[in-house]
Amino acid sequence: MRPGQCHFVSGRRWALNLPAPTEETILAAIGEIEVLPLSTAVDRSGDLDGSNDTVVDRITDEDGLTGIGECDAPPGVIKAFVEMPCAHQWSQSPRRLLVGADPVETVALWEQLYEATAYPGRRGLGIHALSAIDIALHDLAGKQLGLPIYKLLGGARRRSLTPYATIFPGLPQGRTISQVMDEIGQLFTRALDLGFRAVKMEVLFEDLVSDRELVALIREGRDMLGEGITMALDFGYRWRDWHDAKWVLDKIADCDIYFAEAALLHDDLHGHARLAQHSPIRICGAEHAATRWEIREWIEVGQVSVVQPDINRCGGFTEIRRIAEMAELYGVQVIPHGWKTGITAACGRHFQAACPAAPLFEHLSPELFDSPLRRELVSPEPIIEDGRMGLPDASGLGVELDPAAVEKYLIRD
Ligand code: MG
Repeated sequence: MRPGQCHFVSGRRWALNLPAPTEETILAAIGEIEVLPLSTAVDRSGDLDGSNDTVVDRITDEDGLTGIGECDAPPGVIKAFVEMPCAHQWSQSPRRLLVGADPVETVALWEQLYEATAYPGRRGLGIHALSAIDIALHDLAGKQLGLPIYKLLGGARRRSLTPYATIFPGLPQGRTISQVMDEIGQLFTRALDLGFRAVKMEVLFEDLVSDRELVALIREGRDMLGEGITMALDFGYRWRDWHDAKWVLDKIADCDIYFAEAALLHDDLHGHARLAQHSPIRICGAEHAATRWEIREWIEVGQVSVVQPDINRCGGFTEIRRIAEMAELYGVQVIPHGWKTGITAACGRHFQAACPAAPLFEHLSPELFDSPLRRELVSPEPIIEDGRMGLPDASGLGVELDPAAVEKYLIRD
């Protein structure tokens, strides 16, 4: 048994007759995993801002190389999960499982962690915690091997990347609809100036507008963007009845909309199926879904054309890669959600580089959303030219933590 591990640990791995890493096959074992809860301490509970806080896992190998990952979940809860004590075979400490392991064995470690946290994990928070670990393992493995992560995912399947910009003026919060649309217009202009050629208009207007008025505002949005710009819509779970959603989608069928996101409640998969059967526009969703098992329900029951798991919550690179291979069998696209710091933004780039079923990925530009953590936590930022980014070329994720930002935003007990 390797030092620092639970005495339960060896059972699963050894039962499967898998060899323990030996010094001949391991570059450098994992020495430590730190969980860094970060927050800007600004109360954004009245709005939607997934980048107001984050939790970063930093995994360091015996040679001092580090890999980082993050997830979009309550930071203190994730820290408690990763550092929890071993209780029994299906409730073990992720931290203790990882120390001494080979970071290059990403898939083997994913499965070991999944089984070892079956009681508290499997879905939701447990998979969010696993996602941050998996991203950090890929970053570290990439650095050990001197390769960008997309090469670990099988290599480039395209020559350049196509990000889309999410245009979110914030929830109305007392503003008039014309004030909100003015802000959207300014953000459209800024996104196009930044080089984006694909945008998603968030129409989270709540009861400020009727469905009939919403149709007119979407048309106004299309007119502002002009032809030739890929335009998608996010309805923010506006409807409870798929007929209502269909009424609006039928009225904007000629607006050349790439996809319609979050029309119905996230868990209303039968409603999604009915809408998908009758909609003139691609129906998509699953931004909250974790693991390929939940995504399979979205595809088989929900009948959506596009799934949008977040790499930092669906199970990391290991799981989104499996999701993408499954989605291809059904003719479904994978366009990952990504609203966090530059760590998640980097994940989107490596995933799209390696995934033929991902025509786009969500890229939260620090120039389009006022978020200190998104701006300051990691660098460098990629350049966008005529709607495209180049393939990442640095080892691992290709972004590094700024120690000053970590110091500034770290939540101390
Ligand atoms: Mg969304």
